Amino acid sequence: MAISDESLEAIKELKISSVLENQGIRLKRVGREFVTQCCWHSDTNPSLTISDDKGFLFCHVCREGGDVIKFFMKKYGLSFRDACEKIAGQNNLYLNFKEEDPEKAAERKKLIANALSQTTRQQSLYRSSLKGSAVAIDFIKNRKILPETSRLFGLGFDRNQNRITIPIQNRHGDIVGFTARSIGEEKPKYKNTANNEIFTKSDLVFNEFNATESIRELDYCIFVEGHFDVISMRQAGFANCVAIQGTASPSDQVIERLSRKSNKFILCMDADAGGVKAVGLFLQSIQKKALRGDLDVKIAVLQGCKDPDEAIKLGLDMHNVISNASPWIDWILDQWLGSLDFSDQSKLQDVEKKIKALISQISSAALRTHYFDKCAIALAQNRQNVAAQILKNFLSGTKLQSKSSVWHKPEKGWTRQEAEKKLLRLYIHHNDLRQLLRPMMEFLIVPDMIWLWNRILELESHYTIGFTKESLMAILAVAEPIYMQKLRPITVPTISISSSLSVVMHIEDVMFSQSALNA
Ligand SMILES: [Zn+2]
Repeated sequence: MAISDESLEAIKELKISSVLENQGIRLKRVGREFVTQCCWHSDTNPSLTISDDKGFLFCHVCREGGDVIKFFMKKYGLSFRDACEKIAGQNNLYLNFKEEDPEKAAERKKLIANALSQTTRQQSLYRSSLKGSAVAIDFIKNRKILPETSRLFGLGFDRNQNRITIPIQNRHGDIVGFTARSIGEEKPKYKNTANNEIFTKSDLVFNEFNATESIRELDYCIFVEGHFDVISMRQAGFANCVAIQGTASPSDQVIERLSRKSNKFILCMDADAGGVKAVGLFLQSIQKKALRGDLDVKIAVLQGCKDPDEAIKLGLDMHNVISNASPWIDWILDQWLGSLDFSDQSKLQDVEKKIKALISQISSAALRTHYFDKCAIALAQNRQNVAAQILKNFLSGTKLQSKSSVWHKPEKGWTRQEAEKKLLRLYIHHNDLRQLLRPMMEFLIVPDMIWLWNRILELESHYTIGFTKESLMAILAVAEPIYMQKLRPITVPTISISSSLSVVMHIEDVMFSQSALNA
């Protein structure tokens, strides 16, 4: 059985760089392209250029190349079919096979051709009934859709159902179905073509065919929820806009396909709970790619209106809205932190966990630190609020249990390492002692402690208000595992340490007597 054309097309639509990376092949980015070692000649320098945009690999030394299947065949000595199976298996594609029976295949082809000619017939029928219906024309006018826009999108009228029709094209430009909007009181407001041999809802985004060139040219793609949003956006000058079908997120194939035109997505969904849900689902489906930095996703938030269509009618400057879109991680964090109930400790901890899990997956170390810090500050502010609440309770008569512990000098004394650890612990957790302890840092000799102290110095030079325990923990989280393991206990504020002067004196004792010995 041969692999079906659809499956082959799906393989060819995969981003080659991702396929190679999934296979563990090392790539080097050069502008919009990548290079790796050529498998057609014995290559010492990486000479094989990978173009995701063009969908092929090419070696400028031996002038060999081809698509990703040809590459796998050569590199791993596979047959065409085995290469396809290997690629499909690693990239979550399900391969379909051509029906063996040529009669069946021909039947299916005929079925598709029939379905396509039927939708084409329907379309011309709807177009001509629109011309004869004053009510329908008025409806379109009232929605502030200009005649040329109406023509561009092929709006029509279904007389039997009393609905405005919007044809939906597949990525090749064939009309495969319709969305029909009632112009009276008929429910539901929208009716959509059901899935059939030519219409697969999850594999379609509205306006993909017409938006493709603009997406490539402007190098970003706007996603909205509704068909009328796309139409209004087009009138407002955004030809690079597509609509997801319903609130379900588009399939991986659609994402893959569009990200080949541009890897910059801006989501501008409805300003309601449904819109938030749509953004959430969309982000879930692209999260891996976005965390790796393969996709640059931003969220544009509408204020004072329900969707882009209404925003444009109200005269909102959509260029402003789009250019103020914020990175997707900020949007998620705002969702989590914005709805946080600070008096609920267990929820607070849940959110902290979620934040850590998300941020720790970001590939870029600089971004990880940035977001850890952002959240640390937000959470620290909240903690102060919690502290303020506790204080208020205390003043109003509720007694707080306070533990006072007396520090006893350890019998054996500390090792040099222990003393230095305690010194850094005190420095980190006792703001009031920092000035006193700072001069002692010059005398650190344990490499890990010197490393930690250098990080603290870096943080202090970046923040005028002084570093936070959280920002330091963020640094450790992205550090070499060896440092993280050793130093994390020092930054975690769960082990209490007395800050009495006798402790400081004992540290001093150990550090200076031993450093004298070492000298
Ligand atoms: Zn070569």
